[in-house]
Amino acid sequence: MNIVLTGDRPTGRLHLGHYVGSLKRRVEIQNAKTSDQIYIMIADAQALTDNADNIDKVRRNILEVALDYMSCGIDPTQSTIFIQSQIPELCELSFYYMNLVTVSRLQRNPTVKNEIHLRNFKQSIPVGFFTYPISQAADITAFKANIVPVGEDQLPMIEQTREIVRSFNSTYQEVLVEPTAVLPENSTCSRLPGLDGAAKMSKSLGNCIYLADSSNDITKKIQSMFTDPTHLRVQDPGHTENNPVFIYLSAFANDEHFRAFLPEYQNLSELKAHYERGGLGDSKVKRFLNDILQAELKPIREKREALSNDVGQIFEILRQGSLHAQKAAATTLDQVKSAMGINYFK
Ligand code: ATP
Ligand code: MG
Repeated sequence: MNIVLTGDRPTGRLHLGHYVGSLKRRVEIQNAKTSDQIYIMIADAQALTDNADNIDKVRRNILEVALDYMSCGIDPTQSTIFIQSQIPELCELSFYYMNLVTVSRLQRNPTVKNEIHLRNFKQSIPVGFFTYPISQAADITAFKANIVPVGEDQLPMIEQTREIVRSFNSTYQEVLVEPTAVLPENSTCSRLPGLDGAAKMSKSLGNCIYLADSSNDITKKIQSMFTDPTHLRVQDPGHTENNPVFIYLSAFANDEHFRAFLPEYQNLSELKAHYERGGLGDSKVKRFLNDILQAELKPIREKREALSNDVGQIFEILRQGSLHAQKAAATTLDQVKSAMGINYFK
């Protein structure tokens, strides 16, 4: 039995990092038809843990994220798309799991540590934000998901979930399933850097190319990308490591793209070697990246435009998906409560 669960926070439209880090893999898994169930969650409740005063942003982005999913090929007849806050069972599960995790264990979570630092919370960390790894364990286990396709920043969350599952199963009864994180095969894709060269492209950092960006915006963003600061003149030798333009090329370029847009090179190794030797200008490399991303994103943007003509239909899909997900979560919660012996009236 293969059950897949993943999700995204509706804190903004989805970007290239989501696409190569997780979304592309979800579509492949869906189309391979090897999974019994696929759940894709719009994590609005998690988004509120650091946006409590910004409900409009979260509300608005639910539709944007749903459009991004479907324009990339998530098919609601094969995958259940649902909204986290509509499944109250997830809160109940979190409440019981909280007793299985210590404060110091949460404090050690490197992703949470880093996010607290990035958000400049200092001493004012919302309790909900601090405990979101526990709520994420509820999201995964509620559906008995064994496969979770994610980017690298999520590995500590999956590890935390596995610990909660082991603790629950040994303290009470074997009810929960230990999930496995599935990272993209190409390691560049598991943490795509931002346009500014920051470690991660992230909605909250505003350093993104969004899937819905216009053709002009994509070109402008690529033109202003950070490259190698030591590569001042075309003839200078350049560095391809830590150079976001080359990192994006390793995430996106294939030999087909070379044949179509840059036939004087066979593949990325040749292009890199030329840049490192000197004599290859940034603008030519950027033009190539632009050609690739335009080709990749055009069909997604067109599908998105068509889908956004019927917003009512998208919300109906989310309503149906949430109903379906709620039933599955309720079954697990029943099993959890009876394993714990708190099903007093049954
Ligand atoms: P926020 O800044 O609000 O946290 P985000 O851009 O980090 O937003 P999330 O909704 O937190 O996006 O992440 C959703 C999924 O996308 C996760 O599986 C995460 O690992 C993956 N992901 C996010 N950013 C990247 C990235 N730059 N590279 C690869 N995967 C990513
Ligand atoms: Mg994030």
